[in-house]
Amino acid sequence: MQRLKTIIIIMSTYLLLPFISVMSGFSVEAASYDNYVKVGLKYGNNSVQSCTLRSEEGFQLGTAENRGFEAGMPLPAYEKLIITNERGAIVVQDEDGVLLSADLGSNGCIMPANYNYGGILYYENTPYRGGIILLPNSNGTITVINYLMMEHYLYGVLNSEMGYTNSIEALKAQAVAARSFAELSLGKHSEAGFDLCPTTCCQVYRGYSGEYPSILKAVDETKGKMLYHNGAPISAFYFKNSGGYTQNVEDVWSFSRSYLRAVEDKYCPIYPWNITLSYDTIQADLEAAGFRSGTIESVVINERNKTGAVMELKITGSEDTVYLKKDRIRSTLGPTKIKSLMFELTDNGATEAASSWTISNGSSAIKPDSSIFIISGDGVVKKIENNALHAYNGIETIILGKHSSSGITTGKSPTVNFSGYGYGHGVGMAQDSAIEMAKQGFTYDEILEYFYTDIEIK
Ligand SMILES: [Zn+2]
Repeated sequence: MQRLKTIIIIMSTYLLLPFISVMSGFSVEAASYDNYVKVGLKYGNNSVQSCTLRSEEGFQLGTAENRGFEAGMPLPAYEKLIITNERGAIVVQDEDGVLLSADLGSNGCIMPANYNYGGILYYENTPYRGGIILLPNSNGTITVINYLMMEHYLYGVLNSEMGYTNSIEALKAQAVAARSFAELSLGKHSEAGFDLCPTTCCQVYRGYSGEYPSILKAVDETKGKMLYHNGAPISAFYFKNSGGYTQNVEDVWSFSRSYLRAVEDKYCPIYPWNITLSYDTIQADLEAAGFRSGTIESVVINERNKTGAVMELKITGSEDTVYLKKDRIRSTLGPTKIKSLMFELTDNGATEAASSWTISNGSSAIKPDSSIFIISGDGVVKKIENNALHAYNGIETIILGKHSSSGITTGKSPTVNFSGYGYGHGVGMAQDSAIEMAKQGFTYDEILEYFYTDIEIK
């Protein structure tokens, strides 16, 4: 029996050998090896002149193709490689200057020798899973790209996007959303030679330094799972805090998706924000966005949707009236200043009383001097100082004696105050609420189904 076993082992080893050498990257995890992603590390103005790679286990050169890795020359005896761009060719040398590769090639990739087993490679002194792709730029610099499996990419993303101390079900919901979002965003930076950048433009990625046990657990327990609508993976947008309602995607951007619908967010922790912007700042922001408003005269909310989000902001200037719609409001005035579209306007930042103003009923008008007398229906007369008179229409409050957003009065005021709730674009999953739902015992799939309409998780 023992002899038979030995024969079988010898036979299968011989039979498999040719396949092992042909099927590069062969391992027990072979099935997941066709889902590598390219994450830009140093690119554009941050491209480097040269760089150093380190691996305690040595290296494996090869090529990155079709989201897989084809092994080429092994370099098991080297712990440190020096990379330079020599007239458009990526040159690899050891630390003594001995040439190891005169041209890594356009799809060249350098992996740690133990890449099949979660090996770590140091780019300069920062550890990454997977390997490094180096692209020569015509100006002599090098674009540096981390080439790693989707699941390992998520290991380095999740903590930056949600925080490793949160409940496991919230982290799992975040893992599925981040995986779906990444899959749909592949090739976003293809003109620069990679799929995803490591910033909020795509998803914040910190590499191996960003990994925590709870994060690895959340990614592993949802391995490969994504969100689908009608059988196709969805763009799983997410953001921090809804302010009470999420938004239909077409109320934020200029496209529509039937799975990105407004939902009443019953689990939203309160997130108030407040900012006073000077009219000069607003004018400068408009100019930077290509609008010629001239001196700002008033800022008015022109339209809201039924969740209360502002759909149009009318900014009247001396030269032109500018209508900022939907997310253009935040992108123009600053998405970290105007944290959400759920806001109100007040002029309480104003410091200067209007020089003159008028109350009109359409046919006759009065011009208050320093104070005004308000007479209620039951005959009560109240005297109010000119610059302390407020008007409220159910949505916003204006101080009539100061600069007004109502169009009733004109005066000089340097500021407008925005106060609102929530943080982020408002489309898809609200992370603060996902965290709250997990605390209340909801599972990750229940959380995802709450925020994405008519979807499948598989
Ligand atoms: Zn990006």
